[in-house]
Amino acid sequence: MIITIKKSAPKQEVEKLIADLEKHGVQVTHVVGETHDVLGLVGDTAKLDEKRIMANVAVRNVTRIAAPYKLANRLFHPEDSVIDVAGIKVGGQEKIVVIGGPCSVEGAEQIVSIAQAVKEAGAVMLRGGAYKPRTSPYAFQGLQTEGILDLVEARRKTGLPIVSELMSSDKIEEFDKYVDLIQIGARNMQNFELLKSLGKTQKPILLKRGLANTIEEWIMSAEYIMAAGNPNVILCERGIRTFEKYTRNTLDLSVIPIIKERTHLPIIIDPSHATGDYRYVEAMSLAAIAAGADGLIIEVHNNPECAWSDGGQSLKPDKFARLVEKCRSIAHVVGREL
Ligand code: PEP
Ligand code: MN
Repeated sequence: MIITIKKSAPKQEVEKLIADLEKHGVQVTHVVGETHDVLGLVGDTAKLDEKRIMANVAVRNVTRIAAPYKLANRLFHPEDSVIDVAGIKVGGQEKIVVIGGPCSVEGAEQIVSIAQAVKEAGAVMLRGGAYKPRTSPYAFQGLQTEGILDLVEARRKTGLPIVSELMSSDKIEEFDKYVDLIQIGARNMQNFELLKSLGKTQKPILLKRGLANTIEEWIMSAEYIMAAGNPNVILCERGIRTFEKYTRNTLDLSVIPIIKERTHLPIIIDPSHATGDYRYVEAMSLAAIAAGADGLIIEVHNNPECAWSDGGQSLKPDKFARLVEKCRSIAHVVGREL
């Protein structure tokens, strides 16, 4: 349930109303907006009497939300959420963020040199996997803690905030300590115990869409994280499974306007995993910016032929730099900065 509060409402009246609602066992989130405030109610709102709430002088309107997601719902929070990743703002109407880096961290020297190259090209964050969700148990599983410490070293040298994938809740403390943006990969999008445990940190979460999940299931996963107490969620479309074989996945760009309409969360696009082929990454990046994405996360490697994972979809730094330049032009066309 959403209660719209008049801007002119006396503060004590609003506080009294919140206290009264909480007495009925519902959880109330107070969002202060420019034109009006919103009270978002979660819990068993069925027993609340709309007419009684409407009678309160502070109240302008009462709306019942049909969608199963509440905290992520645009109705709960009419303005865009802007998520702060170590000082870099993601979301809102202005800036577009580009994140670049290798699929896997392969050592300090590799990650530091790629970090310098992507920074030079215009990236504002560095990605790098240290715990890798590989299809084969015999494939490289990531440098793990050593990889995280290599990322920390790259951040120290370049100042770029670091993004890395968390696969199990027993590593939350490590990620909370070292990582700026915690990625939850496509394969773990519906690992509900992992999602719930993310309430233990206030670090922002990059939630990738599952390989075969609907938009609603994806938003519900964001809702899990938010309901656990961490409101800092950024969504990431990375392609879904279809019958198509010429690409690794099928990039669903229609999610951008849909996510923006239904939620207040930022959305970024991963054209690398979506296409699986470095030749298509630039075209999909330009299309994503044109469609209103808040950012891109792109795999970049200084020697893709020898990359330990996902070399075929990784761009060399010079191609990445050209891509950022072209994206900048599109960003200006749609009234944004990059
Ligand atoms: C990755 O970012 O390297 C990765 C494994 O992504 P996804 O979960 O989208 O497959
Ligand atoms: Mn990868």
